[in-house]
Amino acid sequence: MRHITEEKIWDCIVAGSGPAGIGAAVACARMGAEVLMLEAAGQPGGTICAVPFMPVNRLRLRKELRSEVHEAFVESLLSFGSEGCYPGPEDDVNGDGFCPQPEFAELAIYRLAEREGITLRLFSPVVDAVTRDRRIREIIVREKRGMVHYSAKLFIDATGDGDLAAAAGCDFWEGKSEEAADPSVAMHANFMLRTQNVEEQAIHMPITLGFSLVGIEAEPFFKWMDGNIGTFKEILKKEDEKGRYVAAWYAFNRGTAPGIMGVNNGAWVRQALTTSGLNSADLTAARKNGVQLAADLAAILRENNIPGCEHCALDRVGGILGVRDTRRIEGDYVLTFADSQKSAEFEDTIARKYGAIDANQLFMGKMDSGFSYPYRSLLPAAIDNLLLAGRCGSATFLGHSAGKSMGNMMELGCAAGAAAGLCIKNGNDPRELDIRVLRETLVRVFKVKL
Ligand SMILES: Cc1cc2nc3c(=O)[nH]c(=O)nc-3n(C[C@H](O)[C@H](O)[C@H](O)COP(=O)(O)OP(=O)(O)OC[C@H]3O[C@@H](n4cnc5c(N)ncnc54)[C@H](O)[C@@H]3O)c2cc1C
Repeated sequence: MRHITEEKIWDCIVAGSGPAGIGAAVACARMGAEVLMLEAAGQPGGTICAVPFMPVNRLRLRKELRSEVHEAFVESLLSFGSEGCYPGPEDDVNGDGFCPQPEFAELAIYRLAEREGITLRLFSPVVDAVTRDRRIREIIVREKRGMVHYSAKLFIDATGDGDLAAAAGCDFWEGKSEEAADPSVAMHANFMLRTQNVEEQAIHMPITLGFSLVGIEAEPFFKWMDGNIGTFKEILKKEDEKGRYVAAWYAFNRGTAPGIMGVNNGAWVRQALTTSGLNSADLTAARKNGVQLAADLAAILRENNIPGCEHCALDRVGGILGVRDTRRIEGDYVLTFADSQKSAEFEDTIARKYGAIDANQLFMGKMDSGFSYPYRSLLPAAIDNLLLAGRCGSATFLGHSAGKSMGNMMELGCAAGAAAGLCIKNGNDPRELDIRVLRETLVRVFKVKL
């Protein structure tokens, strides 16, 4: 394939435009850096845009500003009025979020990027990196025009999958790790458990295709659901036995227009636990089965005469699959389940995670909401000019699952972006950064509640 070299040297290249990538790009641009944000998919936003009307949680803290970066995203979202989004649930786990209509979330991201002076390129998967002496010299992006080589002073991996760090030679873990979790903090909210026997191969949280239904009357539907969860579970069990595609759980979010309902879910109950977001065969199966599951739910609700659903039909499925865990890159510190349980304060705390532990069918549990996230978990052990942001950060499986909601990921991004901005100004590497200056910048400039 043709190789093309882009001569421009960017201050910072952020790979991935999910919540972590957005947080990183905005913070870095606000520090005065020239930022290029590269997105593999044909739409920005990662999981923000993947599941219609899913609450993007923890964008604020007890209804107040979480950081200037979060607020910039919220303001952009709110600028489209009630067609664009509505406030999410207020409970302790899912609080302080907004439920966006995916296309308006997408428009909000374009608007935000333009306002902040961030260059965004879609259809631009980072596929390789040229490294020498612990530094990334170039990254390689597979575009239609060829393999394009990009250079930057610093890089941020916000791909969720840790594609850039892995390409640069960083070590990583995949899947559920051997880590004792205190059963007394466990809570479960699943309808049907995925219980296949698997040994040796890594096991993962489910890969979900989100979707929306039309023709639903929300009021009678939610009223029926509130009093009939047991009946609903029975219906699903029977439909599963009949061969219909049924999810381990469903979460329903009303739409921004009448009759529309967003559906998040725990994926097909028969999806293999080993289904990996890094394997194309698995991703194809997850997509195919997810579409079937979406079509089947509309039929199940209709045929069982669930109130409000008598005339419902499948509307659309998410633009991308929702992948909950893949690579976790080895960093200078590895965040653990134990860290999520105690109010330990790190000297290098640069963000906090709120909510609960949500490893889906594998473990749901309580955590110390607002626990600290150390800067060292953003630093990949093997490379000096790269920062990690979001779900590919350095953590155990449960350490990552503790507070993995999008507002938290955006705060990790904000920290990585601010750190990159400082390094670019001072001409040093992230590992050489004075942590007190970073913390002070996060609090003073970005209003992060450290
Ligand atoms: C199905 C599902 C339901 C969830 N429910 C909720 C919820 O209700 N509320 C909540 O707050 N959180 C929820 N979460 C958790 C939350 O969405 C994730 O933890 C969060 O999105 C992770 O943020 P991220 O930016 O690290 O990764 P992602 O959101 O995964 O974004 C990564 C981005 O990088 C891009 N990318 C990947 N590889 C490359 C590459 N090689 N080059 C360039 N770009 C690349 C991807 O296309 C994507 O846009 C859910 C997650 C899933 C999957």
